[in-house]
Amino acid sequence: MKRIRLSTVRDKIKEIVQQANFELQDDVLKILQEWREKEESPAGQAVLEQILENARIAREEKLGLCQDTGLAVFFVELGEQVQLEYDDNLTSLHEAITEGVRQGYAEGYLRKSVVEDPIRRKNTGDNTPAFIHWELVPGDVFKVTFVAKGGGAENMSAIRMFAPAAGLEGIEDFVVETVDKAGSNPCPPIIIGVGVGGNFEYSALLAKKALLRRPLGTPNPDPFYAEMEKRLLERINNLGIGPQGMGGRCTALAVHVEAFPCHIASMPAAVNIQCHSHRVLSFEL
Ligand code: SF4
Repeated sequence: MKRIRLSTVRDKIKEIVQQANFELQDDVLKILQEWREKEESPAGQAVLEQILENARIAREEKLGLCQDTGLAVFFVELGEQVQLEYDDNLTSLHEAITEGVRQGYAEGYLRKSVVEDPIRRKNTGDNTPAFIHWELVPGDVFKVTFVAKGGGAENMSAIRMFAPAAGLEGIEDFVVETVDKAGSNPCPPIIIGVGVGGNFEYSALLAKKALLRRPLGTPNPDPFYAEMEKRLLERINNLGIGPQGMGGRCTALAVHVEAFPCHIASMPAAVNIQCHSHRVLSFEL
């Protein structure tokens, strides 16, 4: 049995929400640097140069990569053999994560981007609640993945319930059409998470997980889906949207697809769009 103190979780969350908002990770930087060299559009190339310069400044000066510091979204894998120790007046794991977000966003001077009601729009003032997805897993694993999800990219995401007859072609057309319709709104170059299968809500969750499961640009281990990712990336980068919509080939840095079993009468598909400010970090205790 592994024992983990809630105060340790809170402190780690406080640290990673700041670090993720200040530092683009190496997998993202590498693909951005490669595109800076090969982008054919001078305007697009200049934008990529600015994105990389912005990332350097944010890292060195510990400033938010973007003014939109996003919703704090977490995927938590909690092992059945983990025992949580309640300390420092924390009464649940949920509270430890929430408190970490509250403290981290305050300490890092990160914008508070959450309203307490979708219609009445009063800011909660501390970037909570956090959006937490729980997964109970065997063993003593305790893994947390954080993504700061900006509104501009999230707003351009989409879901569609296909009949199975739509086939692979129907899904691929839907992904490309969603990106085309989004244009410059999600701050390209973007990353596209595609969830295929499951049911209505599960396909959306798969699409978000697809953004986080593998280092950027790592192909799906199933060759069928790896080919689908490759085809989609090529079609999307032929749309001509380019960095920040300035024209060019670099509209997307990667397409990641995740699939799951589904009903015999259904074929759900969801597209979760992420901007170039791909602020993701994980930790294990
Ligand atoms: S979509 Fe991303 S880069 Fe654009 S404003 Fe939102 S967080 Fe920032």
